[in-house]
Amino acid sequence: MAIIDEKLVAKVVGEVLARLNNQPAKTSSTHSGFGVYEEMGSAIEAAQRSFEKLRDGGIAARKKAIEVIRKLCVKKAQEWGEIEFHETKIGRLDHKIEKLKICGVLVPGVEMIDRMAFSGDSGLTVIDHAPWGVIGAITPSTHSVPTLTGNAINMIAAGNAVVFNTHPSAAKCAAIAIREYNQAIFSETGISDLLTTVIKPSLDTFEAMCKSPLVKLLCVTGGPAVVAAAMKSGKRAVCAGPGNPPVVVDETADLDLAARSIIQGASYDNNLLCIGEKEVFVVASVADKLMEALRKAGAVHLNANQVEQLAAKAFLFPKGQGVGCPHPDVNRDLVGRDAAVLPKSIGLDIPPSTQLLFGETKEDHIFVDEEQMMPFIPIVRMPDVDTAIKAAIKAEHGYKHTGIMHSQNIRNLTKMAQEIDTTLFIKNGPCMTGLGLGGEGFLSFSIATPTGEGVTTPMTFTRSRRCVMVDNLNLF
Ligand code: NAD
Repeated sequence: MAIIDEKLVAKVVGEVLARLNNQPAKTSSTHSGFGVYEEMGSAIEAAQRSFEKLRDGGIAARKKAIEVIRKLCVKKAQEWGEIEFHETKIGRLDHKIEKLKICGVLVPGVEMIDRMAFSGDSGLTVIDHAPWGVIGAITPSTHSVPTLTGNAINMIAAGNAVVFNTHPSAAKCAAIAIREYNQAIFSETGISDLLTTVIKPSLDTFEAMCKSPLVKLLCVTGGPAVVAAAMKSGKRAVCAGPGNPPVVVDETADLDLAARSIIQGASYDNNLLCIGEKEVFVVASVADKLMEALRKAGAVHLNANQVEQLAAKAFLFPKGQGVGCPHPDVNRDLVGRDAAVLPKSIGLDIPPSTQLLFGETKEDHIFVDEEQMMPFIPIVRMPDVDTAIKAAIKAEHGYKHTGIMHSQNIRNLTKMAQEIDTTLFIKNGPCMTGLGLGGEGFLSFSIATPTGEGVTTPMTFTRSRRCVMVDNLNLF
């Protein structure tokens, strides 16, 4: 990981925030704060005005705005990656930078917007995919600026403006990016507030967003609580919810490739990705060989006692309830921390270059059941592939998020693909190939799982509208 000059980053964040604070967000309905407002109502009204201007500017204005975002997220990847890393203190700087750079090339734009026409004896019917207007987007702490960047490209491509309620612990980096995106978009299009937010997002500003009649659609990226809250709001919500992606390794797998893929995927941004490998079910006949391959590829093997000690530190239980409580909380002090930091919590020193820790557990272990979001992965020995697939389906909890398999057996691959029923199913590679990084396809950091839209695209943020001309305008 690149070494960061903490003081320099603190200085940059301080300067940018001072600029934000010294140019207070205008709350009047006529002036722009370049997207950053004190009140949610002002942020929504500004987005509505910008939506109307974008509509007047047509597809050409959408293209210009998207082009600005693509260029800026690549140009600012290093600076914004450092600011986000400094603010959230989770994940890895090199991956924060990469996640921003890939937004510039892998997130689709206006070319994804579909249209249809039906011409016949009764005339001509056209189906267009129109914008909603202002979309309310809720973003996670795990990738604040990348998620908002991907949402911005997708939503503007579809003709919308966006108001963000960002995660409070990743709100400053988001405000900085929103402000700079708007300034750059303004100089190209004359539209100043296509992306808006509030300086201090909270549950109250979330409520205000949900209640506003100007917000026509919600897009939520986060864990179970925010998905439940959005679904109760009464508004239509595109929900990119939690995952707990299992990996199955069968006896036909290329074990060296499987080990390298598991390390690459589960250590990416210190396992903050919702698609990241979270537990492995391996057929017993190759379990020892897989663990040997993991060690050979640089992962550090914890023994049973060390795994239990780490589990005791990694999960917290509501007061008065011990292990066995159905809803433990992940210890936020260990979420997204470096692999070398985790063992320190149990008094163990390992090489600082270590990317991933692993250890053998039973199928019902807390590390299997919970979305740990830290670079430790449990390995579970299973008697055969069918039992492994069943266990993987149980560990996935019906989130319909991501499943991964390493196998050369087409029947086994097909069986798991069909039975696990996840939005992403990845074969013989690390998780990020499912989002176009090393695999084919496009990127979004909002993968709509419980609501079924999948990896979100501009089309996700459109309304289908049909226009019918009776008995005329057909050309025959
Ligand atoms: P989080 O659920 O703590 O926060 C996500 C967002 O929801 C934040 O903006 C937060 O302020 C808000 N929020 C949380 N509880 C809320 C409530 N009750 N009412 C209103 N708003 C609320 O999640 P996080 O730790 O920031 O992110 C990690 C989680 O997000 C993991 O579960 C991960 O799997 C999931 N995630 C999913 C995707 C996806 O595409 N499906 C992408 C990234 C992260």
